[in-house]
Amino acid sequence: MKILVINTGSSSIKYRFFDMERQAVLASGVAEKIGEAEGMLTHKRLGEQGKDVSQTKQGVIADHRQGLTMIVECLVDKACGVIGHASEIDAVGHRVVHGGETFKSSVIIDAAVVKAVRKNIPLAPLHNPSNLTGIEVAQSMFPHAPQVAVFDTAFHQTIPRKAYLYALPFALYERQGVRRYGFHGTSHAYVADRSARYLGRPLDALNMITVHLGNGASMAAIERGRCVDTSMGMTPLEGLVMGTRSGDVDPALPFFLADHLHMSLKAIDRLLNQESGLAGLCGTNDMREVMKARAAGDEHAEIALEVYCYRIKKYIGAYYAVLGSLDALVFTGGIGENAADVRALSCRGLERMGIALDAEANRRSPDRTGPEGIREISPPDGAVKVLVVPTNEELRIAQETMRVIVKRDGR
Ligand code: ADP
Repeated sequence: MKILVINTGSSSIKYRFFDMERQAVLASGVAEKIGEAEGMLTHKRLGEQGKDVSQTKQGVIADHRQGLTMIVECLVDKACGVIGHASEIDAVGHRVVHGGETFKSSVIIDAAVVKAVRKNIPLAPLHNPSNLTGIEVAQSMFPHAPQVAVFDTAFHQTIPRKAYLYALPFALYERQGVRRYGFHGTSHAYVADRSARYLGRPLDALNMITVHLGNGASMAAIERGRCVDTSMGMTPLEGLVMGTRSGDVDPALPFFLADHLHMSLKAIDRLLNQESGLAGLCGTNDMREVMKARAAGDEHAEIALEVYCYRIKKYIGAYYAVLGSLDALVFTGGIGENAADVRALSCRGLERMGIALDAEANRRSPDRTGPEGIREISPPDGAVKVLVVPTNEELRIAQETMRVIVKRDGR
């Protein structure tokens, strides 16, 4: 089965094309600046004998339909293509940000699904409309291919009421759906699954805490394979310190900012989502830069790292309490996979909880030779296995797409 995975944003379409028999990426890329004066398509593909036959195209990309058309042109191109005709795309997997309470797992997209995703727009006003555009364009371009929606929120739908409800007037939950949903579900689910395989134990026999640290960051408490709590909330703003998002703050902070600094709601939104986090504390949202500045003695970089890791540690403690016992602590995402200092500081002092790092294993650079790049960074006798597991959200979407199609067909 050949599956095209697409992640449609307001002005971009990211794609990855998989051959599922080999679980291999045949090609990938992104159409960017859709609807702007100058668009760009970057198509990556390794040809025969590893020869790079990638292509970049510049010019106006008027809308998402044109963007996807250009992507298909690249996929069937003689020089940089991987298939002879668009009909060889067996299925399309869509990343959909918000499934609300409607979607507890991935689904084949039909009219009712489209309607329900549309109904969830108030919960993800920046994302769901673009995801829907991607679905509609792909449906019309590949009428033969089943389309599957894989939701960022679905994995967290097993979270119990006591963890997802805010202590607000109950009607806000009942009428407006105000509750914690959580995001990055595809990544948490993927690394939990990979960790269980690596440990050679069934997922439903393990308690895990997964720590996804990318530009956005979140954690999940997973009890016997089911998510029971997560750090992001109704929106991705809650929880950990992120690249530009504050994570947890006093909910009364916006009143202070409005009263004393006369900030508008829009300005407060921008402050909390785009000007805070690492960027707010030390001027850069890029952890590599933070590390460099810290090594050069920059005090703000040191402060940013301290606050960042302290928050992770606090959530590890909280989720340990939620789970009662812990088998594995799993780091993933650009920072989780690469920043040894972040892992070390986040776990420092947790030895009596059975969480310890082997300093040398933690420092060792990522090696891609181990099984799927997974690294065990706890000592051999550590009570809790601490793992670094490279995430692969697109592969998970492709796997989910295949799973629901095979299930539908009763194969
Ligand atoms: P996204 O959420 O956009 O997918 P990523 O998962 O790629 O983001 O993570 C991006 C973050 O990972 C950035 O802060 C980047 O600095 C950080 N990162 C990548 N490589 C390293 C590294 N070697 N050391 C420290 N941080 C790194």
